[in-house]
Amino acid sequence: MIAIAISGAPGAGKGTQSNLLVEKYDFCYISTGDALRSEIANETELGKSVKEIIDRGDLVSDEIVGKIIENVVKKAKKDKKTGILFDGYPRTLGQAKMLDNLLKKEDIEFKGLIMLEVEEQILIDRILKRALDSGRSDDNEVSVKQRLQSYKDKTTPIFDYYKSQNKYYGINGVGEIKDIFKLISEVIDKF
Ligand code: AMP
Repeated sequence: MIAIAISGAPGAGKGTQSNLLVEKYDFCYISTGDALRSEIANETELGKSVKEIIDRGDLVSDEIVGKIIENVVKKAKKDKKTGILFDGYPRTLGQAKMLDNLLKKEDIEFKGLIMLEVEEQILIDRILKRALDSGRSDDNEVSVKQRLQSYKDKTTPIFDYYKSQNKYYGINGVGEIKDIFKLISEVIDKF
């Protein structure tokens, strides 16, 4: 079994491309953002503990997302899936290292991080446009700025980590959805 991660700043198109990838490949899929939003919607203890953090655009702790990921990985193995696609995970160096340990323990090969590269002004425009109908409480200008800051401070260091292992795949995330999807598929087909 293999594992792939899709990364990018908020608004880079991770969710859109992930949906297409899951249709094409028989991957188990986990978006940590979706999983956390569902905890909030169901008003679970976990949901209550992360709502404020997510609303202001900060990152939830590595331990909380680590637990979600661990459960998903175990389930994917049980279901004998061909691969796992992580959307929005890992997002810190700590998460990247935790993921390495977990995958090693479960005998799953991490193939690479696919990074959707989009310049900042386009990201802001996309998110504010999405805010009109996403219903997401963190799709507003203040939270978006903080999400971009969290991304710069905490997520960009993982790129060097994967580059040093030849597991970083940068993709131009600006253009037609289908063209970007084709570029990503070409990377995955070589795995
Ligand atoms: P997303 O849907 O991927 O944009 O995630 C929405 C929000 O959920 C983020 O702004 C974070 O607050 C939280 N979140 C999602 N994934 C992670 C992660 N891997 N680590 C920490 N926080 C996360």
